[in-house]
Amino acid sequence: MNNMPRSYQVFSFALPLPIYHSFDYKVDQDIDAQPGQRFVLPFANGKKLGLLVSAVDNSRYDLNRLKNIETQLDSAPLLSKHLMQLARWLADYYCQPLGEVTFLFMPRYCRKLRSMKTTRVQIWSALECEQATLDSLQQKAPRQFQLMLALKQNPDGLNAAALKAVQANWHAQIKVLQKKGLVIAQHKENLPPIPEVMQTGPVLTRQQQKICETIAPTLHDFHVHLIQGVTGSGKTEVYVQLMQQVLAQGRQVIYLVPEIGLTPQLIKRIQQRLTYTVVSSHSAQTDFKRYQSWDQFRRGVAQVLIGTRSALFSDASGLGLMIIDEEHDASYRQQDGVRYHARDVAIKRAQMLGIPVIMGSATPSLESLQNLNKPHYHFHELRQRPNQSAPPKIELLDIANTPLTGGCSPRLLQAIDKHLSLQGQVLLFLNRRGYAPVVMCHDCGWQASCYQCDARMTLHQSVNKLICHHCGYSMQLPQQCPDCGEPNIKHYGIGTQQLEQFLQQRFSEYKTIRIDRDSVQGAEGIEHRLEPVQRGEPCILVGTQMLAKGHDYPHITLVGILDADQALFSSFYRAAERLVQTVLQVSGRAGRAGKTGQALLQTRFVNHPLMQNLCVQSYTDLARDMLQERKLLGFPPFARVVTLLVDALQLDDALQRLQLLVKPIQASSVFASVKMVGPIPALMTRRVGRYRAQLSVMSDQIRPIRILLQELMPFIIKQKNTQKSRLVIEVDPLDL
Ligand code: ADP
Ligand code: ZN
Ligand code: ZN
Repeated sequence: MNNMPRSYQVFSFALPLPIYHSFDYKVDQDIDAQPGQRFVLPFANGKKLGLLVSAVDNSRYDLNRLKNIETQLDSAPLLSKHLMQLARWLADYYCQPLGEVTFLFMPRYCRKLRSMKTTRVQIWSALECEQATLDSLQQKAPRQFQLMLALKQNPDGLNAAALKAVQANWHAQIKVLQKKGLVIAQHKENLPPIPEVMQTGPVLTRQQQKICETIAPTLHDFHVHLIQGVTGSGKTEVYVQLMQQVLAQGRQVIYLVPEIGLTPQLIKRIQQRLTYTVVSSHSAQTDFKRYQSWDQFRRGVAQVLIGTRSALFSDASGLGLMIIDEEHDASYRQQDGVRYHARDVAIKRAQMLGIPVIMGSATPSLESLQNLNKPHYHFHELRQRPNQSAPPKIELLDIANTPLTGGCSPRLLQAIDKHLSLQGQVLLFLNRRGYAPVVMCHDCGWQASCYQCDARMTLHQSVNKLICHHCGYSMQLPQQCPDCGEPNIKHYGIGTQQLEQFLQQRFSEYKTIRIDRDSVQGAEGIEHRLEPVQRGEPCILVGTQMLAKGHDYPHITLVGILDADQALFSSFYRAAERLVQTVLQVSGRAGRAGKTGQALLQTRFVNHPLMQNLCVQSYTDLARDMLQERKLLGFPPFARVVTLLVDALQLDDALQRLQLLVKPIQASSVFASVKMVGPIPALMTRRVGRYRAQLSVMSDQIRPIRILLQELMPFIIKQKNTQKSRLVIEVDPLDL
């Protein structure tokens, strides 16, 4: 009998809940509990997974009233000290609940109540033995002999699947062989193969060489390098060179790409150049596959991790460099759940570790350009493509009084004809998927709009449905007008499906390939559809934003941008920046590999200054003008913004909840240094059936914003999120 009182320690745990505090539990003193480990915790009437964040002073508690943890899942921390520190920084900077943030740092596979599984595979191999032993097996145990033979023929060992192919009931026999000491079972890494023959890269141009030489001496400290260079100017080659140097020192590299930019093409290209193991992580993979890449990278058996946004949170045994390709891309900003900007968090992580970041883009974000004024930031430019082909100048096509067919003006159609007949490929950009964006009654003016969003429904003719692109709600296309009953329903405007259909008829001798979210699922899907494009056949490529990213289309000679006018009159303050970036990214696809390109932009506003400037100015000039304008208006990057966004069942509830925060904001010690806008209904007030309102606070400095948030957080935390109304905080939101 042991009557000694048990002794306990108290720890705080982060749970995946939208709540700003952590939860305390007691842990038996015998347990080796460390921050970063996962535990099963009793919670309400069930169990939840919790991540241990810190020890708590025991004396604060009556231990009898505190719940005990249920089980410890990890013997070693799942998240390292460094990552826990980064998670705390992210939670603090972006005002997101630490519990949700720490869970964001774990691969989804580890967010379940289960212990970690090895990511290595079991293999069996034969041990040395005497011929007599084999002879005797052959006589007495032919099935064991058969397995032994197979294993002897495969000195690297066989896995379960291979052994099963040899013999259906292999497992029992292998067990016997193991007992006899003839076979040994081992775990082996399951890594993507490193090619036997490496590809040698091109000889770097003088510009590339110079950039590499400038960056190389900075690889041991925190520095942020921004490389501006048009598509095809050889940025990736520069990354590869510098990666090689970092890898040769035994350090690891994280290589971030935008959501749709990660293609098997890129992974293959990088792997063919490096004698190190390259693994990847993206949303099209299974949870286990992502976990495997994560685990291999953190143990250091893989040295390069190429991935989308969340790959940034991968632990590493010795991280030496982070690359952020297409750093301007909006997909680096997480728009729901935990809100953060992957580029900015990556830079913070690099700063904590004292390692460099290399970012690249043809059209850097205004934020990054403005940051160049800060210490540790460096600008590099690749002005020319290695093959000397220049990106095409943009020509405007005035369509103000021009009849369009399939959204194309006669001059655009002529150009398409010409390029196809010269065996060129054509890319047409239209950032609107579906068949037609507007469906109306010709008699009474009724418009098809979503019943749960302030948005029009898009006609998808192939399925004869109206679909809301904001919430996914769909309905049959009505035969008669729901308002007046007349059968005069018409559609207006043009989406990619209609454009594709038109082109298939108009240019029937050529393939038309549509790339948008409806036609393509995942990176593999794109690769497959793009096969004729890769082969260099003359064809037409039609698509949305998806086309503007990452891909290499060396045979495109004509790019047509059908409709970019919307952006000229958008209330979104980044609209001009987006327009310029998109137009330059898309038009930059023309004229690679030595072929001369042409880029045509249809517009009804040829005299609009932005349209004019697009044709004559470089991105550097355009960006300088846009920065000037932002400065005048007091918008980011010259202001820091925090938006409090509430969505509720009623608009009044949303506005009222924000109204409760107005007084504390006005009472803040720094109120004089900030500007408050709102509470006002959000631009798209109703979305997925909920009403949205917002309250923004801006300042030209970060300090008052931080202080204000600190003072405001207690009030925000006091307001509970319920079904009736939910509040989220957006620090540095992309929109206002
Ligand atoms: P970016 O990343 O800027 O789009 P890449 O590095 O992908 O550019 O280069 C575009 C193309 O030019 C690739 O096919 C690449 O192999 C080729 N290339 C890059 N650098 C050189 C060079 N120095 N000499 C010859 N070809 C090069
Ligand atoms: Zn009607
Ligand atoms: Zn909707």
